[in-house]
Amino acid sequence: MSNILIVDSIGQPVRWAAATRAAHYYAVGKVIADLGQHHFSLSGGFNRLLAKPSEITCSSIVMVRGKHRLVAQRNFVGLSRERLFLRDRYLCAYCGQLFNELHLTIEHVIPVSRGGTHGWTNVVTACRGCNHRKGNRTPEEARMPLIYVPYAVCRNEGFIISNRNILGDQMEFLASALPRHSRWAKC
Ligand SMILES: [Zn+2]
Repeated sequence: MSNILIVDSIGQPVRWAAATRAAHYYAVGKVIADLGQHHFSLSGGFNRLLAKPSEITCSSIVMVRGKHRLVAQRNFVGLSRERLFLRDRYLCAYCGQLFNELHLTIEHVIPVSRGGTHGWTNVVTACRGCNHRKGNRTPEEARMPLIYVPYAVCRNEGFIISNRNILGDQMEFLASALPRHSRWAKC
């Protein structure tokens, strides 16, 4: 089942949760608002008052009480191969072609051996051919200009790229607070 996006009382994403966990927030009265357009029904135990099985309906975006303390601690999104390809939407930064992840590599714009960092602002997605051709050179030296600029992934974008089964309303909610340079920002 799709993951549920849990947001705090000021609309900051807190976590992706399984519907059963989201149902727990409803059961303990922590939910302030349903913000999603999709709804999922879960059957729980037997409700003796109503003499029928109890059922909880979860929204695809659930706002819970409180400003979540995890938010402050988790603004930084770690760099990984998969997240980088998703940031760059599987486009090679040099030839501009779309590739399957098997044919893509992490490319350091300034090579690490020459002082470049292994961080979001110095890495791009490159196909194997372009990575090999560029070798241990800068884009200027290789005469291979970048077709897009690398940037650090923000928290909301981190949520978008960490859920491959993201629903349309969840995407819209997270994309509405993205910086303009994000490739996931709404045009
Ligand atoms: Zn390429």
